[in-house]
Amino acid sequence: MNLIFLGPPGAGKGTIAAMVKEAYQIPHISTGDLFRANIKNETELGKRVKAILASGDLVPDEVTIKMVDNRLGEDDAKNGYILDGFPRTIAQADALKEMSKVDYVINFVLEREDILKRLSGRRVCKSTGRTYHILYNPPKVEGIDDETGEPLIQRDDDKEEAILNRLEVYDKSTAPLIDYYKERGLLIDLDASKSPEEVFAELKNILK
Ligand code: ADP
Ligand code: ADP
Repeated sequence: MNLIFLGPPGAGKGTIAAMVKEAYQIPHISTGDLFRANIKNETELGKRVKAILASGDLVPDEVTIKMVDNRLGEDDAKNGYILDGFPRTIAQADALKEMSKVDYVINFVLEREDILKRLSGRRVCKSTGRTYHILYNPPKVEGIDDETGEPLIQRDDDKEEAILNRLEVYDKSTAPLIDYYKERGLLIDLDASKSPEEVFAELKNILK
């Protein structure tokens, strides 16, 4: 099963993708996570994209498409995948069409007010990428990752200025993909406002 998770930043795509990965045994491919791993490891790609991620702008299509093409070519993606955060532009969606056949595009629907609450309270473990929320999904010990014991951080792009830019970028470049996939009969809306368990249950129903 080849899935795309579409939706604004903070809608809960990564959280639900982790649950789908477990339940369906397909890889969770997050372009944001791939870029952050490159930044952490100080690769050439990481150096090129670091400032772009911090500002909340999009990495150029050409760079992003090449990275995804490589990742989809790996063995574990042969039996399905969840693409989280890609495509984010029409050019990326056109490129994906040439790389792979998509089964469903799940559109995470959430009010702007809730998006802001989720993004501003998000905390992550830098080494594992595990995601928490200070109110909705707090760690067992405040500020500490449950499994590794490392301190949690707030992503640079989850600070107010970058959040506003990312939402503008979403509206301008990514939201047009809703119509793009609707026209192709692939889009399914998912109410992302409930608890992660409820959202996941609704998604499982859809995928049956
Ligand atoms: P969120 O899940 O909060 O939207 P992501 O982790 O998906 O954030 O993305 C973080 C950043 O990585 C984006 O703001 C952008 O700079 C870059 N990025 C991720 N995916 C793409 C993409 N498909 N095209 C261009 N840039 C991307
Ligand atoms: P995305 O990948 O779409 O950017 P995340 O999965 O990282 O979104 O979720 C954004 C923030 O909201 C995180 O802090 C996460 O813990 C929290 N969150 C995710 N899903 C829910 C939900 N259904 N209800 C409440 N909080 C949620």
